Amino acid sequence: MRARTPALDRFRVLAAVLVLTIHTSPLASYAPGADFWLTRVLARLAVPFFFLVTGYFLGRSDFAHLPRFLKKTAGLYLAAILLYLPLNVYAKNLTNWQDILRGLFFDGTFYHLWYFPAILLGSVLARLLLKGGRRFALAASAALYLIGLGGDSYYGLFSSLPAGKAFYDGFFTISSCTRGGVCFAPLFLVLGALAKRRSPALCGAGLALSLAAMSGEAFLLKNAGWQRHDSMYLLLPLCSVLLFSLLLAENAGQDRAARRFSAVFYVVHPWCIVLVRGGAKLLSLEKQLVENSLGHFLAVLALSSLFALAAALLPEKPRADGRAWREIDLGALRQNAALLRRLAGKRTELMAVVKADAYGHGAVPCARALRRCGVRSFAVATLEEGIALRRAFLRGTILILGWTPPAEAELLVRWRLTQAVVDEPYARQLAAQGRRVRVHLAADTGMHRLGVPSEDMAAFRRISRLPSLRITGVFSHLCEANGASAEEEAFTREQIRRFSGLTALLQTSGLLVGETHLFASAGLLRWEAQPFSLARPGLALFGVWETAAERDARCGLRPVLSLRARVTSVRRLETGESAGYGLAFTAQRPTVLAAVSIGYADGLPRDLAQRGGEALLHGVRVPIVGRLCMDQLLLDATDAEETKGGDVVTLIGRDGAETIPAEELAGRCGTITNELLSRLGSRLGLIVR
Ligand SMILES: *Cc1c(COP(=O)(O)O)cnc(C)c1O
Repeated sequence: MRARTPALDRFRVLAAVLVLTIHTSPLASYAPGADFWLTRVLARLAVPFFFLVTGYFLGRSDFAHLPRFLKKTAGLYLAAILLYLPLNVYAKNLTNWQDILRGLFFDGTFYHLWYFPAILLGSVLARLLLKGGRRFALAASAALYLIGLGGDSYYGLFSSLPAGKAFYDGFFTISSCTRGGVCFAPLFLVLGALAKRRSPALCGAGLALSLAAMSGEAFLLKNAGWQRHDSMYLLLPLCSVLLFSLLLAENAGQDRAARRFSAVFYVVHPWCIVLVRGGAKLLSLEKQLVENSLGHFLAVLALSSLFALAAALLPEKPRADGRAWREIDLGALRQNAALLRRLAGKRTELMAVVKADAYGHGAVPCARALRRCGVRSFAVATLEEGIALRRAFLRGTILILGWTPPAEAELLVRWRLTQAVVDEPYARQLAAQGRRVRVHLAADTGMHRLGVPSEDMAAFRRISRLPSLRITGVFSHLCEANGASAEEEAFTREQIRRFSGLTALLQTSGLLVGETHLFASAGLLRWEAQPFSLARPGLALFGVWETAAERDARCGLRPVLSLRARVTSVRRLETGESAGYGLAFTAQRPTVLAAVSIGYADGLPRDLAQRGGEALLHGVRVPIVGRLCMDQLLLDATDAEETKGGDVVTLIGRDGAETIPAEELAGRCGTITNELLSRLGSRLGLIVR
């Protein structure tokens, strides 16, 4: 079979050039009919293609990446607005507020920039429509498209009806044409989100036929004189989808340089038109470079390509999945949160514990995903972790469970962080800073690690009288919630009883009106729901259990993290040959030995091979051998398929039919999953899906 290519990304370049033909009419000097076909029929596929690709990629993550996409696109739009500001000032465009607002939100502030408000508005609309189901989204966006059609290529038909004319006259006071974020972009975005791979032969034949039919449609409309604008046809959605499907069938991987090239080309080409005109005047080449349509097109093409090429060749950030990386499944995280919320009971919300970089899962993307599915409280271990979340614009309560130097009270206030009060002396030191710090009081119900003894009401009273602390909650922590013996259960029951008693007393004596929370993962998973206002799970959110023995498959939690690395080098050893530091591995048979790009500095124990560690290669379990190095390890790859450099190795997670659960690796490391995951090295890449 022929190798597939990043066809979708590469076609972006051609699509951007097609947009340029619309704005330069390359064949106008030679054959106006051919030019109409090229620029008003064929090139009209370009922008729908961009919408389809965007819809496709947003749809694959079920629109989880929509906020990030909107932010990025809005940033690019802003840059483009600034880039064209001088031309707008020069041409005295956008001189009143109405024009400015219309430009910003509908028409774009320069003629080609309509694309940005259209895709911003369109993708939000498409997402909303898709919430009503596929059929509804298709029907609704198609209806919007038909309305748009009546104000575009079919305007002559509709404007002859008085009601039609009144409707479109009204429409055009808001947006200068119907081709935009409401009547144009949503259909293509929805179609992209629902696109599937189809047979390329069928798509090719369909495309040829539908393009021929659309050409007929366009020439008929042109001759009928119905077109107010010529960018929307009845057959355009069909043609675009077939073109997109043809490319999708061929598509594999990404070409980020092509993406960047096309984006910059699209944004700068109108500037290049201005520059070519100016330059031609200076050099007295107007005949060749302006009046001759093809010369003009080629000059602008060359200049725009130069800018776009410079941008495409700019150095890139390294790929997150280059060497060794964590893969995060946000869908699983959301499901786990929903499940834990059900377990917590009706009146209890989640406080998601995302300390230690969300147990190695990436605190910012995880907290954002949780926030989006309704979690409003978070807990971290340190001041720095709290500030990092605020810097990423996370809203809601952020409780610091660990100790913060009292002298940092100012930072707690500035970043609106809530501090755990670990005992009475700490409460006094914090209060002495004179800052109005929000705090949750830790109560010691038996763990004897942190907290004010839960029976010491006098201490709680004294703390509540301290002038500058704002007490917004009280919490405690269980230390035997996992235990199954009668004594352990009795201990937990006593902790629950003490905490319930304390909160009741605090509430009746008016000392507390805020949150109450006791349960972490084990409490939620193993104990009946309690009427506290929050539950504080960490580990369970990430779909893993402390040990393999505890894992309860019926519970429905799904692991969020996979850990992967790459084969870097493969060699053959004869029986009796040894390898690695201390020659710790000796081949007992002719052996295929693969070096892999992950080591103890990434969080694996140095004696993992001696502890029976395994990895997945081509869906097969193979043993880790020899002594782990700081940055590498060795695999006995004899039983895996043909192995070569660059192949993906899975240390945690699924590959084909095989899975290595995090609990298994933790067990081999002689520890619990919490420790293994939270020690994953910071130099590992992070891929969020
Ligand atoms: C870490 C931590 C949690 C979360 O514990 P899990 O067992 O991971 O759910 C809850 N509360 C406190 C005080 C913690 O330190």
